[in-house]
Formats: sequence, C-alpha cells, structure tokens
Amino acid sequence: MVKKTWRFATLAVHGSEGGDPVTGAISPPIYQSSTFAFKNSQHGADLFAGKEKGFIYSRILNPTQVALEREMAFLEEGEDALAFGSGMAAEFTTIMTLCRTGDNFVSSGTIYGGTHALYQKVLPRIGIEAREVDAGDLNKIEEAIDERTRFIFIETPANPTISIIDVRGCAEIARRKGIKLVVDNTFATPYYQKPLLLGADLVVHSATKYIGGHGDTVAGIVIGAKDQMLEMRKGIAQEVGGIISPFNAWLLLRGLKTLAVRMDRHCTNGMRIAQFLSFHPKVERVSYPGLRIHPQHELAKSQMSDFGGMIAFWVKGGLEEGKRLMDAVKLCTLAVSLGDCDTLIVHPASTTHSSYSLEDMKKVGIDPNMIRLSVGIEDVHDIMEDLDQALRAM
Ligand SMILES: *Cc1c(COP(=O)(O)O)cnc(C)c1O
Repeated sequence: MVKKTWRFATLAVHGSEGGDPVTGAISPPIYQSSTFAFKNSQHGADLFAGKEKGFIYSRILNPTQVALEREMAFLEEGEDALAFGSGMAAEFTTIMTLCRTGDNFVSSGTIYGGTHALYQKVLPRIGIEAREVDAGDLNKIEEAIDERTRFIFIETPANPTISIIDVRGCAEIARRKGIKLVVDNTFATPYYQKPLLLGADLVVHSATKYIGGHGDTVAGIVIGAKDQMLEMRKGIAQEVGGIISPFNAWLLLRGLKTLAVRMDRHCTNGMRIAQFLSFHPKVERVSYPGLRIHPQHELAKSQMSDFGGMIAFWVKGGLEEGKRLMDAVKLCTLAVSLGDCDTLIVHPASTTHSSYSLEDMKKVGIDPNMIRLSVGIEDVHDIMEDLDQALRAM
C-alpha cells in the first residue's frame, strides 16, 4: 500500500504499512501486557524453539515495540531495529554485543557526556577499553586500531561542540580493517542524515530527543542488518533486559508522525538563531554546521541534507558570564536533554560534561564559556529576543 517513492515527510506520517490491518485504527494499539497466552503446550514449545513466530513475554518482544522497530528501520533504511528503555541501554547493548573482555573500540572523544561516563566508569570493570581520539583527524582513528579493535564509534553532529565527523571516511577505514562502524545519529535524525547509506553498519539513537520530540519519554534504538540485530536481540538485549515499555514505544510512534515538520522548524529556527548569535557583540563564536564559518560546513553538506537545531556558542568572558547568561534567560529553559519543542539551554562544563576531567574537557573543546542550545519550535523572534536581553544583562 505504501509507495516507497513517497518522500520522507509522507513516509513518516503514513508509516511502512499504513493503519492496523485488523481494526483499521490509524494509531497503533498499545499492547500493555507482560505475557502472552500459548494456544496449547505444543504452541508454547514451538515459540520457544523459534519454529513459530509470536509473542511470549514482553522482555523478549512486545507488539507495540515491534511496530516502533519496524518504522525506525524503515526510516533509517536499515533491515531491522531494536528498541530500548534508554539511549544508554542501546549503546551498552551494542558494545556488549560487539566486544568480549580484552577487546577495545575506537570512539570520537567529543561525545554525549553519559557515553563518556559509560566508557570511564563501567567498561573498565568488564575489561573493554574505549579509545577516545580526536575523530576530526581520520589518521588518529586509524592509528588507534589494533588487532583487538572491534568497531569505530562516532557521534555526528557531536555533543556538545556541534563538530562534524566524516561518516564515509570512517566507513572506509572500518571496511579496510574488517571492523564495524557505529554512528550515533541522535542530533541529525534520519530526516537529515542516514548513516547506513553512508557506509555505517549500525545506527544508535537516544530516541528521548528528536524522535520522541516532546520531552516526555526516555528511550533508545539501534538499527542495522538483520543477522546483527538478531544476535543483539537474542543475546544481550534479551538477557539483560534494558527494554522499552509498550507505552513509551507508542509515544515514539506518535513522535515519528511529526518528525519532519518538527525538524523543519528546529532547523529554520536553528539557522536564524545561529546567524543572530554570530553577529551579537556579547558572543565570541558560534558553532552551527549550517554557517559557512563552521570549519566542517562542506563536510556537513556532503553527508546531511540540512543542519538541525543544535547550536554551541561561546560568550565573551568566562565561567561567570556563562552562568549569568543562564540565570538571565526567561523563555529558554535551563535543562539538559535536547530535541524538545521547548528551547533548552545548558552549560556543558558544569552539567552534562562534568564527567570529563578539566584536561579532557580542554582536549575536546568544552570551554567554561561555552553554552549549548537546543533550539525549539517556538516563534523564532521570541527566542531571539530572550537571548538578546539575557546576553545584554550578562
Ligand atoms: C541523550 C543522548 C544519549 C543517551 O540517551 P538516553 O536516552 O539519555 O539514555 C546518547 N547519545 C546522545 C547523542 C544523546 O544526546
């Protein structure tokens, strides 16, 4: 029924298979059930043996979860997807699926603060090493790879500096070395960037952000090839159990319907706010990949169809000025997370990236006067006026 020639915004609304085939419901049912009855003892045995398809128990699989996974795989143009209770559960399960004790992987150093904390606090306990390098230089990635390296992990655009990493370049290295490439596509979403089409093997999302879009759900998703996803589903995911709830899966399915319109607005607002900030006398510098002054503007254009709503900017002054700005805004909400309808403002050095040592912060470009802005879908003039009054009051 669904025509694959339709464009992304249409596909996001109509989904891969249209409404519920049984009832015609255009909103998928929420299967709020932990367990599913067997027809008889043989049916139960066949389900467990994998001879028959069906549902057993919601830690293993739930129909609303399946509906979400199908749509995410469809939109990312991958074969299959696996949904989790959080982006971190998605990342941890991915790492545990690809690595054994003694293995390592190479990661970009500029990443989500929680990902960095996972590398530092948890992985050493199980003997898996995350080698964080400056992924802006592909040679640094290649040099860090040895015979126990299982994959390359990158986040692009990257948290919190909004720098861009060359996905095709990383895919080429991974192919040559016989290892995998995993891309965190949280900031761009499949609307603006499809890492699997650029050569990545797996895509991970914090669906908490733009996929959900309304600041009401914590969730994660991994998308990739069928056999890889099956290994993950039947292995670590099932046995560790960082699953998504049926209701949260439904909220994300609802979020997908408006993904394209929300992203359009985040993006046009993002561009205008970035331009406004780059001419503001109280602002030292702005990082937004849509600006021609962004050092990787051309690279961003070559792998993204547009630039999204995430901005980093550096106020004139230091830590004190940064904090004063945060206390002077009235419309922008002081909060972590991103990709919500509301504009969110955060000071990475004291909050989201406080798991970095001062030295590591410097290395990855997190300065005390840097502010991260997740531009919302409000009227852009109101956001601009708020930032302007706060910058002047600072
Ligand atoms: C938020 C975030 C994560 C972690 O996801 P949770 O849903 O908070 O567990 C990972 N990567 C990026 C880029 C994020 O923004």
